[in-house]
Amino acid sequence: MAERQTAEQIAEHRVVSVQWQGRTKYTYYDDGIVKITRYKKRKVYWGRIFAALVIFVLLAAGIVQLIKAALTAFANDKTEIQVNSSLAATYSAEESAAEPAVTDESSAADSTSSTADSAAEPAYSNMNFTVCIDPGHGDYDKGAVTSDEKYESDQDLEIGLKVKEYLESCGVSVIMTRSEDVQVSLSERCAIANQGSADFFVSLHRNSVSDNASESGVEIWVNSNQPQYDTALAQNILTALGTAGISQDRGVKYGYSGWSDQNYQVNMDTVMPSCLIELGFMTNDTDNELFETKQTEYAKAIGDGIIKTAIDLGVCAEDGTRKLSEQLLSDSKANVTQQY
Ligand SMILES: [Zn+2]
Repeated sequence: MAERQTAEQIAEHRVVSVQWQGRTKYTYYDDGIVKITRYKKRKVYWGRIFAALVIFVLLAAGIVQLIKAALTAFANDKTEIQVNSSLAATYSAEESAAEPAVTDESSAADSTSSTADSAAEPAYSNMNFTVCIDPGHGDYDKGAVTSDEKYESDQDLEIGLKVKEYLESCGVSVIMTRSEDVQVSLSERCAIANQGSADFFVSLHRNSVSDNASESGVEIWVNSNQPQYDTALAQNILTALGTAGISQDRGVKYGYSGWSDQNYQVNMDTVMPSCLIELGFMTNDTDNELFETKQTEYAKAIGDGIIKTAIDLGVCAEDGTRKLSEQLLSDSKANVTQQY
């Protein structure tokens, strides 16, 4: 065994060879000195590695759970919309099979609207046909808006439920495309009417125009092919609304606002006579006041206009007896260039 030397002394010598025995290093120098270095066993922190792994796995599992929860919430949202709309359809179908009665919905609508509220006296009874009433927009799609933040989607539903109530008091079966504040696609609305074998389809909307508060009045839109039955439906409703009191009769219009050869989808993909009512401008004070105060009259006018059309077109007799054995179909809705 060689005598131990300082690092400085060793550094002056030249290394001849190095040998290992286990963890001990023998360095042989040219002058016979041997340096012995014992290396400690490298410590592996298994405990810490294990803890880190556990934390990593837990974190990963947590993130996966979070993503799953988010995806499920998103899927539920979509399902809810679908379920709601099919429920709405089912509910309306069930309702329409029943005898006229004031439903919970319509009494709710009564108690929420402020001024004109007593239900109109029915002008007909036992009218044996089916109407699909389509309150526009819904849920996140609010439609037009008044300066005091009233939404079209709410007003379309409000008047829609009143039209339903009036028609049912006359014995008409009513299918609603929506009975609450939910989103229903345009194709779904058409499908609800077509599958429910409705004889008429009436979509309810309110108008708006930017930067022109003086624009006012009621207009009703019909398919660009100008089908006779659909036109009769629109004209009868407009005439009745004129009697009830509107600021201006803007007439029956064909196609889509700004494009006469194109169409609102609900006037194209429904098989029965259909029309889309723009019940005054939400950007006009007079129209808004009329809408607020004349809802009962408007609902009755729309209902009477529909019933008159059913009688005129021979769907049923004046006493309500059904004359047509099948669902009434529109006389012409083909050859349309583009849909909206
Ligand atoms: Zn609208």
